Amino acid sequence: MVSEQKRILTGIRPTGPLHLGHYVGALENWVKLQKEYECFFLIANYQVADYVDQLDVINESIIEVATDWLAVGLDPESSHFTVESLVPEHAELSMWLSWFIQLGRLQRNPTLKSEIDALGNKPVSLAFFNYPILQVANILMPKAHLVPVGEDQLPHIEMTREIARKINKLAGHELFPIPKGLVGRVPRLVGINGPDAKMSKSADNAIYLKDDEETVKKKIMKMYTDPSRIHATDPGKVEGNPVFIYHDAFNTNTDEVKDLKERYTNGTVGDVEVKTKLFDAINAFLLPIRDERNKYAQNKKIVKEFLQQGSSHSSQVAKETMQELKSALNLGY
Ligand code: ATP
Ligand code: MG
Repeated sequence: MVSEQKRILTGIRPTGPLHLGHYVGALENWVKLQKEYECFFLIANYQVADYVDQLDVINESIIEVATDWLAVGLDPESSHFTVESLVPEHAELSMWLSWFIQLGRLQRNPTLKSEIDALGNKPVSLAFFNYPILQVANILMPKAHLVPVGEDQLPHIEMTREIARKINKLAGHELFPIPKGLVGRVPRLVGINGPDAKMSKSADNAIYLKDDEETVKKKIMKMYTDPSRIHATDPGKVEGNPVFIYHDAFNTNTDEVKDLKERYTNGTVGDVEVKTKLFDAINAFLLPIRDERNKYAQNKKIVKEFLQQGSSHSSQVAKETMQELKSALNLGY
């Protein structure tokens, strides 16, 4: 059932609608590569342990995420939109895979470490701690060759490579391709609240693909810039300044960006002009996405059908992979 075309597996947690960081970090590559690769796009609804008291958010977000995918141009006919829990083999595979990774290796995973730190005093559930293994299972299930993601996901892909090598060695043949990561044009887009935090659904610092014009304008107007610059005549810092990071990412008028940077550095432009031009650029970028999104937002039934259809294909593929793994390693009865 798995075709000859090389395959992509990548995913998103259904913890809210998608934002600009998802676009430049990951989605843009998905759209570009969807014709060249057979793509499995996964909504990782097992990987939401920190949201366990907000299951209504998760269920609503599954549809939101799929709607955003359609809005940016992912094609549900040629790709497989998959809901993780509709393919329970993911849980089974992650159980078997957890035998192939040491506890210490997981504890040293830098992304997991920083996410656990970010939880502060909140207790860490076992499921949260284990989610990288589920991700390994997600990637190996369709035998993916390529995993286009934002930079924060690379440690999980490295773990996938290690586990795939171990299993291939035991199996005596290349059961799983050794997958490669592919990071987007902006590996880690910062949030609107400053240069330290990544734009993230859970951090309330995002511009969403579905935000209307007014909301985008408000968010941009209150964006963090150079805190040491009080007056428009003060020389400002461009490097590491979120407003200019966004200009570089979304303003296609490079002459305008160059001019704004020069004037900002010399103290001859005010924040309002810099931000208004940024709003124009981001709004122009979001306009076609918003239009496309509106079509699907009014037709949840068809979005659900795409998810059913994709998950059903992924289910077939999963059964085959599990069968092969079990027979290669002599697992189960
Ligand atoms: P959460 O806060 O719930 O973890 P998130 O915004 O981090 O949400 P994920 O579902 O964890 O989103 O990530 C989905 C994909 O988007 C991953 O490949 C991730 O690396 C990428 N991504 C998310 N945020 C950014 C960002 N700010 N810059 C670049 N890539 C990003
Ligand atoms: Mg995340």
